[in-house]
Parts: sequence; C-alpha cells; structure tokens
Amino acid sequence: MTKFKTLDDIGDLTGKVALVRVDLNLPMQDAHVTDDTRVRASAPTILELSAKGAKVLLLAHFGRPGGEKVSTMSVSMTLDALQEVLGREVMFVPEIAGPVVAQSIGILAPGDIALLENTRFWKGEERNDPDLAKAIAANADIYVNDAFSAAHRAHASTEGLAHLLPAYAGRSMEAELKALEKALGDPVRPVAAVVGGAKVSSKLDVLTHLVTKVDHLIIGGGMANTFLAARGVSVGKSLCEHELAATCEQILDAADKSGCTVHLPYDVVVAKEFAANPPSLRICNVHEVAEDEMILDVGPQATEALADVLKTCRTLVWNGPLGAFETEPFDAATVALAKSAAALTKEDALVSVAGGGDTVAALAHAGVAQDFSYISTAGGAFLEWMEGKDLPGVTALQTA
Ligand code: ADP
Ligand code: MG
Repeated sequence: MTKFKTLDDIGDLTGKVALVRVDLNLPMQDAHVTDDTRVRASAPTILELSAKGAKVLLLAHFGRPGGEKVSTMSVSMTLDALQEVLGREVMFVPEIAGPVVAQSIGILAPGDIALLENTRFWKGEERNDPDLAKAIAANADIYVNDAFSAAHRAHASTEGLAHLLPAYAGRSMEAELKALEKALGDPVRPVAAVVGGAKVSSKLDVLTHLVTKVDHLIIGGGMANTFLAARGVSVGKSLCEHELAATCEQILDAADKSGCTVHLPYDVVVAKEFAANPPSLRICNVHEVAEDEMILDVGPQATEALADVLKTCRTLVWNGPLGAFETEPFDAATVALAKSAAALTKEDALVSVAGGGDTVAALAHAGVAQDFSYISTAGGAFLEWMEGKDLPGVTALQTA
C-alpha cells in the first residue's frame, strides 16, 4: 500500500499558507457551472485546512488553454459555485506565483480562502517546469493534493510541488486511494472485474492488467463482440474490431495461465437498427445472430449467470457498460447487474468500486450510485489505475 501523509498528520496551521490542488474542471454552460460534484468533493479538505487556521490557496486547471491566458477559461468562472458550496467568501487572485499572490496572502486572515488562476495559463504547468513549481511554492508552507482526477499527469501543480513542500493527500484523494487499494491493491478474494464499453482498442491495457489480477473477468459491451468474433462467432453488423482477433486470443490465453475465468455472453439482445425499442428487437443465442443484426446488449440468461458469479465474489471493480445503455431497452443487462452488485454491497457481501465517464452515468441511470462502496469520477486517472500504472501525482505523495 502506498504510504502518504494525510490531514491527520497536520497540526495547527495558524497563519501558514496551504496550497491545495483541487479539481475545478467543472461542466459549464454559458459560463455557469452545471454540476458542482467536484467542488463538493474537495470542500471537506478546504474547510478542514481553514479550520486549522491556514490561509488556503486553491490551485486548479480548467480546459486546455495551452499555456496562454484565455479569458474564457479563467477559473474565476467557478468562484460562485465554490462560495456557494463552501458557504464562505473566496478571494480570486489572477496569478499563481509572484508578488501579486504574496500581496494577496498579506490581505488574507488565518482561515481565509483564495482561488488562484488557471494553472494551465502558464506553459511551465504541463511541462512540470521546476522553476514554475519553485515560484508557486515560494509563497506557501505546505502542499495538499486533493485532485486524484489529475494525478495521472506529471504537471507542476500535481507533481512538481509535492517535492518542494511538505506534501499531504486531501480527504478526497485519501478516500479514492483507500477505495482503489481495497479493490485491486489488496482485495478480499475472489475478485470480479466487469469491463464493458464500446471498444477493445481503448481498454487493451486494462484487460491485459486485469487478467493477472482478478479471478473473474466479465466482458460485455461492444468489446464482447470483438472477443466473440475472435472465437469464431458471427456477430453480423455489430460494432466489432475484427483486426484485434489475435490480441483477444492473447488476452484469453493470459487469463487461462493466471487462473482468471473469462465470462463472455452466451445470449444477446439484437436488432437490425439502432433505435429505442425497434421492431426487429429479439433475444437469441450468440450463435444465432443474423448477418443484418447488431448485438446491443447482453441477454437475460447470461445476465442472471453473471449475477450468480458476483454472489461468489467478495470484491468487484467495474468499468464500462454491458450494452448501449443510453437507448432502451439496451440498458437492461447493465441495470440488472448493477442492481445485483448494489444489493450484495448493501448486505456487506461485496466491496464494489466503479469508475469511468459512461459507467458513472449508467450506474446513476440504474439508481444504484449511492449503494456502491465507491464510485470514482476520475475518468482518465481511474482508467490508468485500472491499467496498473503508477500515477505521478500519487507517487509524488508517497512517503515510503
Ligand atoms: P466508460 O466511459 O465508462 O469508460 P466507454 O466509453 O468505454 O465507457 O463505453 C461506453 C459506450 O459503449 C456507451 O456509449 C455505450 O453505448 C457503448 N456500448 C456498449 N455496448 C455496446 C454495444 N453492444 N454496441 C455499441 N456500443 C456499445
Ligand atoms: Mg466513455
């Protein structure tokens, strides 16, 4: 287990300056925040540091300004959402280093909070330029990283700073790392992984890593079609990457060698056109898909069998929907299996961790998002963690 310091290791901070890397890359419409989930995730860390008496300086990126000052990408657009969630006044500082920041710190009282400008307005951020990191660090006493979602990037604000100041994981980072450790680092066995979604090509590294880690690999979604085709099944007009047949065989071989059971659907939901409740909709065995049909979801029998697999497991990690869940009724398998996992989690029979943009949406659609042990909203960082990669922002916090 990665060892890192948390806010528990910090005592009184009266008058000290705490730099806190947060995720403010919020969904916006017409310069208004449409979803403040990420702000709420970091609020406990910000308020705890403020309660310890620190002058809290928030650091975040927004969008991809590419090292230029782009006014439409100022993080000041998130100020209202921040103030509302925190219930506190937040000062905006249009710099991240230098005398303007120093002067602002002079104005702040212990416990006050300020938001610094978009880190990506400076070229040194994405280059992890040590000079930029030093200039930012010069105004502060400690560094807290609460943005797991940005930890897969080695940038000045996510990695460089951790080497220049006493560095701590914020509460949200701490919760994420603990949940991920429970799911794949040191899990209670047997472990099941559900991997779905559109394409094998986007999750090759995930599959390759998981077969060495889990006891059951459940493959659904469009990527199951590619595996079925590799096994000689005709998948008709289904989304399928035929060119990856050999790769799929290698993954299946690797699974075999490490004692991982791979589950592919044996019945499927098919249709001739991709639309809600199309007239051509039918359920069939995977060997009965017609030339002009598409596989759009895992069938009900296979779904029930998968729920039985989950009942034998103690840990579940899930990325990717089992079907084209945005369109009814191709959400059925995803919703049913999500409900099974949620019920087992509620009974304390299963630790369930899920992540991925569409996966989070699918679990919310199934109405079970609250019932999973942990749902990561980290997107890219979550996938890289599923690939078994070291995340630079996390490694930099490591103490042993
Ligand atoms: P995540 O964002 O959770 O990592 P992906 O982006 O990999 O997930 O995959 C989600 C997409 O996969 C969804 O848009 C869904 O409609 C699509 N998908 C799932 N199953 C199928 C299928 N059988 N045919 C076509 N698309 C599918
Ligand atoms: Mg996606």
